[in-house]
Amino acid sequence: MPAVRDRVLFVAGLLLLPLGLPLGSHAQPAETLQSPTTFLGYGPGEQFTPHHRVVDYVRHVAEHSPRVTHRRYGTSVEGRPLLLATITTPNNQNRIETLRRDNLKRAGVAEGEPQGEPTALVWLSYGVHGNESVSTEAALRTLYALGNPQNTRTGGWLDNTVVLLDPVLNPDHEPWPGGRTNHYYFDLNRDWAWGTQPETRHRLEAYHRWMPHVHVDFHEMGVDDPYYFAPAGEPFHENLTEWQIDFQFTIGRNNAEYFNENGWLYFTEEVFDLFYPGYGDTWPLFNGAIGMTYEQGGSGRAGRAVITVSTVEVTAANHERVVRKFAGYHASVQNDPPGEYQTYVVQRDAQGHRLSALATHLDRQHIRYGYATESRTVQGRSYRTGDTLRAQIQQGDLIVNAAQPKGRLAKVLLEPETTITDSLMYDITAWGLPYAYGLEAYALPERVTPDVDTMPIPDLSPASDASSPYAYVTPWTSRADARFAAALLDENIRVRFATEAFTV
Ligand SMILES: [Zn+2]
Repeated sequence: MPAVRDRVLFVAGLLLLPLGLPLGSHAQPAETLQSPTTFLGYGPGEQFTPHHRVVDYVRHVAEHSPRVTHRRYGTSVEGRPLLLATITTPNNQNRIETLRRDNLKRAGVAEGEPQGEPTALVWLSYGVHGNESVSTEAALRTLYALGNPQNTRTGGWLDNTVVLLDPVLNPDHEPWPGGRTNHYYFDLNRDWAWGTQPETRHRLEAYHRWMPHVHVDFHEMGVDDPYYFAPAGEPFHENLTEWQIDFQFTIGRNNAEYFNENGWLYFTEEVFDLFYPGYGDTWPLFNGAIGMTYEQGGSGRAGRAVITVSTVEVTAANHERVVRKFAGYHASVQNDPPGEYQTYVVQRDAQGHRLSALATHLDRQHIRYGYATESRTVQGRSYRTGDTLRAQIQQGDLIVNAAQPKGRLAKVLLEPETTITDSLMYDITAWGLPYAYGLEAYALPERVTPDVDTMPIPDLSPASDASSPYAYVTPWTSRADARFAAALLDENIRVRFATEAFTV
């Protein structure tokens, strides 16, 4: 076996970390754009670059290069900035908002026709696992290669391409003493489809502002391993399109040429599949991008910037096709959603708390939904029994119509059963959202349109007409009730609970 996804490189890190930090904080303030080596005061891979120095360098490049701007898109749990650099020609920078809006129009989430020329959007994500240091080291070199105005080769690509570069997705755990997860010990490379963590939530918002065409998630694996890049291994989720699989091969061939030229070892089409939607390759795929994982063999070496540069090169060379296919992906799903179900109906729970939590989840994923205000009878597959039966849609039930820009993602997350083409796979195989939220639902072959966009407010008038009640009673049905009880206790309101059922 060549590798596993992201082994923890604890021992290798220990050998390489020089005693007595602070890592290169002696560098000089710069008048002109500096390379990472000059700015940091050490060569690539000689030291780990701590997060605050990564931030310094991104700001330095943005200050000194007309190709680069940056934006703080959020803050980590421990208060560190989450940054996104935008890299393109000065000409494109002047109309960057038009290019961004154009793309949202192509994705079907903004109104109107695109105004500018087709421009490819490549998003590069580094350092989702804090202990995989080569990833962020590669980010710094990539930023310089693309952002340096003297580099005419990359400048040519940027005429028709915008690169969005996030140097550290997970800044709260750094290489030393080793930490794959975020502050709450959550693996952020399983969280894209769920958004349970603050870093993910900020990133999803930033991502939805752009909706890139190509997304690369950079990792580091075992010290004895070579390099892994796309195309990925089987199984592929059935809702990947032919184009998404084909273009991975196009990119992979270009990457391989550089590796062959240099005699570097690598492998493709093994180990890392494209099935579970929580990853930094699959989630972008279900959002219409070419999503890929790259894994460099570890030990704190210098990160290979050449592979990013190669990915930008091949995307730029194919930019018209990349943009056209992206627009087609979103147009087709709005007219003809994939799969046997057109509509997902999720039943309202007694208090509506769990349904509200599901609605918040869908909001975070930008999946559109609405609610029923009138009851009606439909034919559909019950999530609880697995049988196809006649069911009643009731007032307050949540309805997701699959004919929408996010229709493929909606199907992947909501369908009652996922088709598996291969029994061997890397990770999780079941995740249907109605099951995750403990709600009964029906998958319908017919298209049902919601009656309203917002949850109908149930009748909250008190059961008793007492003007000065002795007590208030509320049933305990979900975690929302626990939060309610805690809020009451915070206000020093006396709270009691019943250990036996009673009637009022
Ligand atoms: Zn990783």
